[in-house]
Amino acid sequence: MRTLLDKLEREHRLSKAEFASLLRARDPDLEREAARRADAVRRRCYGADVYIRGLIEFTNCCRNDCLYCGIRRSNAHVERYRLTEEQILSCCREGHMLGYRTFVLQGGEDPKWGPERIADLVRTIRTDWPDCAVTLSVGEHSRAVYQLWFDAGAERYLLRHETADDAHYRTLHPPEMSPEHRKKCLWDLKDIGYQVGAGFMVGSPGQTEEQLAEDLCFLYELQPDMVGIGPFIPHHDTPFRDRPRGSLEQTLFLLSLIRLMLPTVLLPATTALGTIHPQGRELGIRAGANVCMPNLSPTAVREKYALYDDKICTGDESAQCRQCLAARMASAGYQVVVGRGDRAGRQERAPCPHPAPLRPAHRDPSDYKNI
Ligand code: SAH
Repeated sequence: MRTLLDKLEREHRLSKAEFASLLRARDPDLEREAARRADAVRRRCYGADVYIRGLIEFTNCCRNDCLYCGIRRSNAHVERYRLTEEQILSCCREGHMLGYRTFVLQGGEDPKWGPERIADLVRTIRTDWPDCAVTLSVGEHSRAVYQLWFDAGAERYLLRHETADDAHYRTLHPPEMSPEHRKKCLWDLKDIGYQVGAGFMVGSPGQTEEQLAEDLCFLYELQPDMVGIGPFIPHHDTPFRDRPRGSLEQTLFLLSLIRLMLPTVLLPATTALGTIHPQGRELGIRAGANVCMPNLSPTAVREKYALYDDKICTGDESAQCRQCLAARMASAGYQVVVGRGDRAGRQERAPCPHPAPLRPAHRDPSDYKNI
């Protein structure tokens, strides 16, 4: 198995069968070795820096009915909310003071937050905080809509492909959703010029090692700038309420394999990982991740954005989350940095309303500030 790790580190790719055999091994020594190598690779690209993104969950209204998701359309027990522009901007104001230079606007596919309204919001944020990047994560839309938001100043887009296996995709989603369309969205986003994030849940109901291997092959083909993975965690009001959580070990192993395959990728240690283990995010960073996305949403709405049960940090103020994270990263031997945290080698693109000269935070030690 170690020879497969050697090959992955050297050639940055393996066949589907090779990935599957690594994933089937379930060997703690192999997983430790992969984490050690992945950490060395991330340190070569990013040092000990951890990039942070302020996550603003601005609407839990969604037209979709994904079977795993707590805010799916048919869950009548969710108290629905949508933040106003003023509330979102006030999250950004607080986030900027706390040292965030990327805001991630995430939500359900909410018809009341239509394309023009989101474009206006992006424009306002980019104008008010020209030193910040805006990441959108609002699901599947037409190429024209993605272009509108890009032109408004959004530079990054997160859209997990959820699973690259067509049959598995159909067991996780209602018939009106298709794996082809989800993948088409990712290719459109990439073609437009976004820094694109794909990803998947680990341990989603019925998932096999072969399907995870397919996910890794898809990521190699897509060559995304970011990869978001986290364990599946059941939500009590969904059809998957009784299915087991994804495993910590398998998620960490996959983070390491992804780091070895895509050395400079931006790889978050997700909230879901922090939910299944008290030190999940620290372990994720040690296994090769280099990004964290603490919550910037107003405390009053956090519990309502429940994609899964037992989500952490729902009671904390944004400042508490920020401090807690800095302390956690420091205890693991890493440092949270202030900066946009672009992918190594990628520059800020031009059409920002008021462009500010910026470089990746890790290049300039004067940018380091542990708050
Ligand atoms: N509407 C947006 C944002 C989805 S929420 C979109 O479609 O992209 C972000 C991610 O949370 C999803 O892509 C999914 O992978 C993850 N997620 C949803 N339900 C989950 C669950 N029960 N356990 C773990 N992760 C979940």
